[in-house]
Amino acid sequence: MKKVLFLLFMTSPLLCSAQHIIKRDLTLMGCHFDITVVAENHARGDEYIDVATVEIKRIENLISSWDPASQTSEINRNAGIRPVEVDRELFALIQRAIGISQLTDGAFDISYAPMDKIWTFDGSMTEMPFKEAIANSVALVGYQNIVLDPANLTVFLKKEGMKIGFGAIGKGYAADQAKALLISRGVNAGIINASGDMSTWGKQPDGSDWKVAITNPFDKSKSFGLLPIKNGAVVTSGNYEKYVLIDGQRYSHIIDPRTGYPAKGILSVTVFAPKAELADALATSVFVLGIDIGLDRINQLPDIECIVIDDRGGIHKSDHIKIASR
Ligand code: ADP
Ligand code: MG
Repeated sequence: MKKVLFLLFMTSPLLCSAQHIIKRDLTLMGCHFDITVVAENHARGDEYIDVATVEIKRIENLISSWDPASQTSEINRNAGIRPVEVDRELFALIQRAIGISQLTDGAFDISYAPMDKIWTFDGSMTEMPFKEAIANSVALVGYQNIVLDPANLTVFLKKEGMKIGFGAIGKGYAADQAKALLISRGVNAGIINASGDMSTWGKQPDGSDWKVAITNPFDKSKSFGLLPIKNGAVVTSGNYEKYVLIDGQRYSHIIDPRTGYPAKGILSVTVFAPKAELADALATSVFVLGIDIGLDRINQLPDIECIVIDDRGGIHKSDHIKIASR
Protein backbone atom coordinates (compact mmCIF):
# COMPACT_ATOMS: atom_id res chain seq x y z
CA MET A 1 0.00 0.00 0.00
CA LYS A 2 2.75 2.39 0.83
CA LYS A 3 4.70 1.72 -2.33
CA VAL A 4 2.97 4.61 -4.06
CA LEU A 5 4.57 7.02 -1.66
CA PHE A 6 8.06 6.69 -2.89
CA LEU A 7 9.89 6.81 -6.14
CA LEU A 8 13.44 5.68 -6.06
CA PHE A 9 15.94 7.61 -8.07
CA MET A 10 18.94 5.63 -9.06
CA THR A 11 21.67 6.53 -11.43
CA SER A 12 23.18 4.07 -13.85
CA PRO A 13 25.62 1.70 -12.18
CA LEU A 14 27.66 1.49 -15.36
CA LEU A 15 28.79 5.08 -15.24
CA CYS A 16 31.37 4.85 -12.54
CA SER A 17 32.13 1.33 -11.46
CA ALA A 18 31.71 -2.36 -12.08
CA GLN A 19 29.12 -2.62 -9.35
CA HIS A 20 25.52 -3.27 -10.34
CA ILE A 21 22.17 -2.44 -8.83
CA ILE A 22 19.91 -5.48 -8.69
CA LYS A 23 16.28 -5.07 -7.68
CA ARG A 24 13.38 -7.48 -7.20
CA ASP A 25 9.69 -6.91 -6.46
CA LEU A 26 8.14 -9.40 -4.08
CA THR A 27 5.01 -10.07 -2.09
CA LEU A 28 5.96 -10.73 1.52
CA MET A 29 4.00 -10.35 4.76
CA GLY A 30 0.94 -9.80 2.57
CA CYS A 31 2.44 -6.59 1.14
CA HIS A 32 4.56 -5.33 -1.69
CA PHE A 33 8.27 -5.38 -0.95
CA ASP A 34 11.19 -4.52 -3.13
CA ILE A 35 14.73 -5.39 -2.36
CA THR A 36 17.68 -3.64 -3.97
CA VAL A 37 21.31 -4.66 -3.56
CA VAL A 38 24.57 -3.48 -5.02
CA ALA A 39 26.64 -6.46 -6.18
CA GLU A 40 29.42 -7.35 -8.58
CA ASN A 41 27.05 -9.17 -10.93
CA HIS A 42 23.40 -10.13 -11.32
CA ALA A 43 23.78 -13.71 -10.17
CA ARG A 44 25.38 -12.56 -6.93
CA GLY A 45 22.73 -9.92 -6.46
CA ASP A 46 19.99 -12.51 -6.94
CA GLU A 47 21.58 -14.76 -4.32
CA TYR A 48 21.63 -11.92 -1.82
CA ILE A 49 17.99 -11.10 -2.50
CA ASP A 50 17.11 -14.77 -1.93
CA VAL A 51 18.86 -14.61 1.46
CA ALA A 52 16.87 -11.52 2.45
CA THR A 53 13.62 -13.11 1.28
CA VAL A 54 14.15 -16.24 3.39
CA GLU A 55 14.86 -14.03 6.41
CA ILE A 56 11.70 -11.96 5.96
CA LYS A 57 9.59 -15.13 5.60
CA ARG A 58 11.15 -16.50 8.78
CA ILE A 59 10.14 -13.34 10.65
CA GLU A 60 6.65 -13.48 9.19
CA ASN A 61 6.25 -17.03 10.50
CA LEU A 62 7.19 -15.80 13.96
CA ILE A 63 5.11 -12.64 14.21
CA SER A 64 2.07 -13.22 12.04
CA SER A 65 -1.19 -13.14 13.96
CA TRP A 66 -3.00 -14.64 10.92
CA ASP A 67 -0.94 -17.80 10.84
CA PRO A 68 -2.32 -20.16 13.53
CA ALA A 69 1.08 -21.89 13.70
CA SER A 70 3.01 -18.76 14.75
CA GLN A 71 4.17 -18.15 18.31
CA THR A 72 2.22 -14.90 18.23
CA SER A 73 -1.01 -16.82 17.59
CA GLU A 74 -0.12 -19.15 20.43
CA ILE A 75 0.19 -16.14 22.75
CA ASN A 76 -3.18 -14.83 21.57
CA ARG A 77 -4.93 -18.20 21.95
CA ASN A 78 -3.75 -18.35 25.54
CA ALA A 79 -4.90 -14.88 26.55
CA GLY A 80 -6.34 -15.05 30.06
CA ILE A 81 -5.27 -18.69 30.30
CA ARG A 82 -1.51 -19.13 30.66
CA PRO A 83 1.91 -17.67 29.82
CA VAL A 84 3.47 -18.94 26.60
CA GLU A 85 7.18 -19.54 26.13
CA VAL A 86 8.55 -17.86 23.01
CA ASP A 87 11.84 -17.37 21.15
CA ARG A 88 14.13 -14.73 22.58
CA GLU A 89 13.72 -12.76 19.36
CA LEU A 90 9.94 -12.45 19.71
CA PHE A 91 10.25 -11.74 23.43
CA ALA A 92 12.69 -8.89 22.71
CA LEU A 93 10.44 -7.46 19.98
CA ILE A 94 7.50 -7.39 22.40
CA GLN A 95 9.71 -5.77 25.04
CA ARG A 96 10.72 -3.02 22.61
CA ALA A 97 7.10 -2.55 21.51
CA ILE A 98 6.09 -2.02 25.13
CA GLY A 99 8.94 0.50 25.44
CA ILE A 100 7.44 2.46 22.54
CA SER A 101 4.01 2.33 24.22
CA GLN A 102 5.59 3.92 27.30
CA LEU A 103 7.31 6.55 25.17
CA THR A 104 4.05 7.47 23.42
CA ASP A 105 1.68 7.34 26.40
CA GLY A 106 -0.01 4.31 24.91
CA ALA A 107 -0.65 5.81 21.45
CA PHE A 108 1.28 2.86 20.08
CA ASP A 109 0.09 -0.43 21.49
CA ILE A 110 0.49 -3.91 19.97
CA SER A 111 -2.51 -5.03 22.06
CA TYR A 112 -4.72 -2.71 19.92
CA ALA A 113 -5.69 -5.84 17.94
CA PRO A 114 -9.24 -6.50 19.33
CA MET A 115 -10.16 -3.10 17.87
CA ASP A 116 -9.44 -4.42 14.38
CA LYS A 117 -12.51 -6.64 14.70
CA ILE A 118 -14.82 -3.67 15.03
CA TRP A 119 -13.48 -1.47 12.26
CA THR A 120 -13.01 -2.67 8.71
CA PHE A 121 -10.94 -0.62 6.35
CA ASP A 122 -11.83 -2.18 3.01
CA GLY A 123 -14.58 0.27 2.13
CA SER A 124 -17.41 -2.01 3.31
CA MET A 125 -18.21 -0.02 6.43
CA THR A 126 -20.71 2.83 6.19
CA GLU A 127 -21.81 3.38 9.77
CA MET A 128 -20.09 3.88 13.07
CA PRO A 129 -19.79 0.73 15.17
CA PHE A 130 -21.95 0.55 18.30
CA LYS A 131 -20.59 2.55 21.23
CA GLU A 132 -20.74 -0.55 23.46
CA ALA A 133 -18.62 -2.53 21.01
CA ILE A 134 -16.02 0.24 21.01
CA ALA A 135 -16.06 0.47 24.82
CA ASN A 136 -15.69 -3.31 25.10
CA SER A 137 -12.67 -3.25 22.80
CA VAL A 138 -11.05 -0.44 24.83
CA ALA A 139 -11.42 -2.57 27.95
CA LEU A 140 -9.39 -5.33 26.29
CA VAL A 141 -6.55 -3.11 25.11
CA GLY A 142 -3.61 -2.13 27.26
CA TYR A 143 0.11 -2.87 27.03
CA GLN A 144 0.17 -2.84 30.85
CA ASN A 145 -1.63 -6.19 30.70
CA ILE A 146 1.10 -7.87 28.66
CA VAL A 147 3.11 -9.74 31.28
CA LEU A 148 6.69 -10.58 30.37
CA ASP A 149 8.83 -13.00 32.32
CA PRO A 150 12.45 -12.53 31.19
CA ALA A 151 13.71 -15.50 33.22
CA ASN A 152 11.41 -17.97 31.50
CA LEU A 153 10.92 -16.03 28.24
CA THR A 154 7.17 -16.20 28.60
CA VAL A 155 4.48 -13.80 27.45
CA PHE A 156 1.08 -13.69 29.12
CA LEU A 157 -1.89 -11.61 28.05
CA LYS A 158 -3.76 -11.10 31.29
CA LYS A 159 -7.30 -10.71 29.98
CA GLU A 160 -9.31 -13.25 28.04
CA GLY A 161 -9.98 -11.84 24.55
CA MET A 162 -6.75 -9.81 24.47
CA LYS A 163 -4.72 -10.04 21.31
CA ILE A 164 -1.44 -8.64 20.02
CA GLY A 165 -0.54 -7.75 16.43
CA PHE A 166 2.60 -6.35 14.82
CA GLY A 167 0.94 -4.48 11.93
CA ALA A 168 2.59 -1.20 12.88
CA ILE A 169 6.10 -2.44 13.67
CA GLY A 170 6.66 -5.82 11.98
CA LYS A 171 7.54 -4.61 8.50
CA GLY A 172 10.06 -2.16 9.91
CA TYR A 173 11.61 -4.92 12.01
CA ALA A 174 11.78 -7.25 9.00
CA ALA A 175 13.46 -4.54 6.92
CA ASP A 176 16.09 -3.95 9.62
CA GLN A 177 16.79 -7.65 10.03
CA ALA A 178 17.13 -8.26 6.29
CA LYS A 179 19.52 -5.31 6.07
CA ALA A 180 21.63 -6.57 8.99
CA LEU A 181 21.83 -10.04 7.49
CA LEU A 182 22.94 -8.75 4.09
CA ILE A 183 25.57 -6.54 5.69
CA SER A 184 26.88 -9.59 7.55
CA ARG A 185 27.13 -11.38 4.17
CA GLY A 186 29.30 -8.56 2.84
CA VAL A 187 26.73 -6.59 0.83
CA ASN A 188 27.98 -2.99 0.83
CA ALA A 189 24.82 -1.18 -0.15
CA GLY A 190 21.12 -1.72 -0.62
CA ILE A 191 17.56 -0.86 0.21
CA ILE A 192 14.92 -3.05 1.81
CA ASN A 193 11.61 -1.44 0.95
CA ALA A 194 8.92 -3.14 3.01
CA SER A 195 5.87 -1.53 1.48
CA GLY A 196 7.21 1.97 2.15
CA ASP A 197 9.21 1.09 5.25
CA MET A 198 12.69 1.57 3.91
CA SER A 199 15.95 0.51 5.46
CA THR A 200 19.02 1.59 3.52
CA TRP A 201 22.76 1.26 3.79
CA GLY A 202 25.81 2.22 1.79
CA LYS A 203 25.74 4.30 -1.36
CA GLN A 204 24.82 3.89 -5.00
CA PRO A 205 27.64 2.60 -7.23
CA ASP A 206 28.35 6.13 -8.47
CA GLY A 207 29.06 7.21 -4.89
CA SER A 208 25.87 9.18 -4.35
CA ASP A 209 23.41 8.66 -1.51
CA TRP A 210 20.18 6.77 -2.02
CA LYS A 211 17.38 9.28 -2.41
CA VAL A 212 13.68 9.06 -1.76
CA ALA A 213 10.94 11.32 -3.02
CA ILE A 214 8.02 11.99 -0.73
CA THR A 215 4.93 11.99 -2.89
CA ASN A 216 2.25 14.60 -2.53
CA PRO A 217 -0.75 12.56 -1.34
CA PHE A 218 -3.08 14.92 -3.19
CA ASP A 219 -1.31 14.50 -6.50
CA LYS A 220 0.79 11.40 -6.80
CA SER A 221 2.58 12.71 -9.88
CA LYS A 222 4.14 15.50 -7.83
CA SER A 223 6.54 15.05 -4.98
CA PHE A 224 7.14 17.32 -2.04
CA GLY A 225 10.82 16.82 -1.91
CA LEU A 226 13.77 14.64 -2.63
CA LEU A 227 15.74 13.50 0.35
CA PRO A 228 19.03 11.67 0.58
CA ILE A 229 19.11 8.86 3.12
CA LYS A 230 22.35 7.77 4.61
CA ASN A 231 22.50 4.44 6.33
CA GLY A 232 19.14 4.83 7.92
CA ALA A 233 15.44 4.29 7.60
CA VAL A 234 12.51 6.23 6.30
CA VAL A 235 8.99 5.03 6.88
CA THR A 236 5.64 6.40 5.82
CA SER A 237 2.25 5.56 7.27
CA GLY A 238 -0.53 6.85 5.12
CA ASN A 239 -4.25 6.49 4.96
CA TYR A 240 -4.73 7.05 1.24
CA GLU A 241 -6.06 3.60 0.63
CA LYS A 242 -7.01 2.07 3.94
CA TYR A 243 -9.62 4.21 5.62
CA VAL A 244 -13.33 4.42 6.45
CA LEU A 245 -15.52 7.24 5.22
CA ILE A 246 -18.47 7.89 7.52
CA ASP A 247 -20.59 11.03 7.12
CA GLY A 248 -17.90 12.64 5.01
CA GLN A 249 -15.31 12.13 7.74
CA ARG A 250 -12.21 10.16 6.84
CA TYR A 251 -10.97 7.77 9.53
CA SER A 252 -7.59 6.11 9.18
CA HIS A 253 -6.79 2.44 9.75
CA ILE A 254 -4.71 3.47 12.73
CA ILE A 255 -6.74 3.33 15.92
CA ASP A 256 -6.28 5.27 19.12
CA PRO A 257 -5.97 2.47 21.71
CA ARG A 258 -7.17 4.81 24.43
CA THR A 259 -10.51 5.69 22.80
CA GLY A 260 -11.11 2.86 20.33
CA TYR A 261 -11.71 5.38 17.53
CA PRO A 262 -9.52 5.67 14.43
CA ALA A 263 -7.14 8.60 14.22
CA LYS A 264 -8.22 11.45 11.96
CA GLY A 265 -6.92 14.75 10.65
CA ILE A 266 -3.67 13.35 9.24
CA LEU A 267 -3.10 11.98 5.76
CA SER A 268 0.45 10.76 6.06
CA VAL A 269 3.35 10.63 8.48
CA THR A 270 6.94 10.06 7.36
CA VAL A 271 9.57 9.33 9.98
CA PHE A 272 13.34 9.27 9.51
CA ALA A 273 15.28 7.24 12.06
CA PRO A 274 18.38 5.09 12.29
CA LYS A 275 16.18 1.97 12.34
CA ALA A 276 13.02 1.13 10.41
CA GLU A 277 11.45 -0.63 13.39
CA LEU A 278 11.41 2.54 15.50
CA ALA A 279 10.46 4.71 12.51
CA ASP A 280 7.54 2.38 11.73
CA ALA A 281 6.21 2.43 15.28
CA LEU A 282 6.68 6.19 15.61
CA ALA A 283 4.92 6.95 12.32
CA THR A 284 1.87 5.10 13.65
CA SER A 285 2.22 6.88 17.00
CA VAL A 286 2.24 10.37 15.46
CA PHE A 287 -1.02 9.54 13.66
CA VAL A 288 -2.61 8.83 17.03
CA LEU A 289 -0.93 11.62 19.02
CA GLY A 290 -1.86 14.24 16.43
CA ILE A 291 0.30 16.90 14.84
CA ASP A 292 1.24 19.05 17.84
CA ILE A 293 1.89 16.41 20.47
CA GLY A 294 3.32 14.03 17.88
CA LEU A 295 5.91 16.49 16.56
CA ASP A 296 6.71 17.65 20.07
CA ARG A 297 7.49 14.06 21.03
CA ILE A 298 9.61 13.55 17.90
CA ASN A 299 11.57 16.75 18.63
CA GLN A 300 12.63 15.31 21.97
CA LEU A 301 14.13 12.19 20.44
CA PRO A 302 17.70 12.14 19.12
CA ASP A 303 18.25 11.36 15.41
CA ILE A 304 14.55 11.20 14.58
CA GLU A 305 12.80 13.51 12.14
CA CYS A 306 9.27 13.63 10.88
CA ILE A 307 7.06 15.16 8.17
CA VAL A 308 3.28 15.18 8.63
CA ILE A 309 0.78 15.99 5.90
CA ASP A 310 -2.61 16.90 7.28
CA ASP A 311 -5.92 16.23 5.56
CA ARG A 312 -6.04 19.77 4.19
CA GLY A 313 -2.67 19.47 2.52
CA GLY A 314 -0.70 21.33 5.19
CA ILE A 315 2.86 20.18 5.77
CA HIS A 316 4.29 20.05 9.28
CA LYS A 317 7.91 19.21 10.02
CA SER A 318 9.97 18.38 13.05
CA ASP A 319 12.49 21.02 14.07
CA HIS A 320 15.64 19.83 12.35
CA ILE A 321 14.45 18.46 9.07
CA LYS A 322 15.92 19.75 5.84
CA ILE A 323 13.71 19.20 2.81
CA ALA A 324 14.36 20.59 -0.63
CA SER A 325 11.13 21.49 -2.42
CA ARG A 326 10.82 20.52 -6.05
P1 ADP B 1 0.69 1.01 7.25
O1 ADP B 1 -0.54 0.21 7.14
O2 ADP B 1 0.68 2.22 6.39
O3 ADP B 1 1.92 0.17 7.22
P2 ADP B 1 1.31 1.42 10.01
O4 ADP B 1 2.71 1.00 9.96
O5 ADP B 1 1.04 2.65 10.79
O6 ADP B 1 0.67 1.71 8.62
O7 ADP B 1 0.47 0.22 10.60
C1 ADP B 1 -0.91 0.27 10.70
C2 ADP B 1 -1.38 -1.06 11.23
O8 ADP B 1 -0.98 -1.15 12.61
C3 ADP B 1 -2.87 -1.19 11.25
O9 ADP B 1 -3.33 -1.77 10.05
C4 ADP B 1 -3.09 -2.11 12.43
O10 ADP B 1 -2.83 -3.44 12.07
C5 ADP B 1 -2.01 -1.69 13.40
N1 ADP B 1 -2.41 -0.62 14.36
C6 ADP B 1 -3.45 0.24 14.24
N2 ADP B 1 -3.47 1.11 15.25
C7 ADP B 1 -2.41 0.80 16.05
C8 ADP B 1 -1.88 1.36 17.26
N3 ADP B 1 -2.44 2.42 17.84
N4 ADP B 1 -0.77 0.78 17.80
C9 ADP B 1 -0.19 -0.28 17.21
N5 ADP B 1 -0.64 -0.85 16.07
C10 ADP B 1 -1.72 -0.31 15.47
MG1 MG C 1 3.94 1.86 11.53
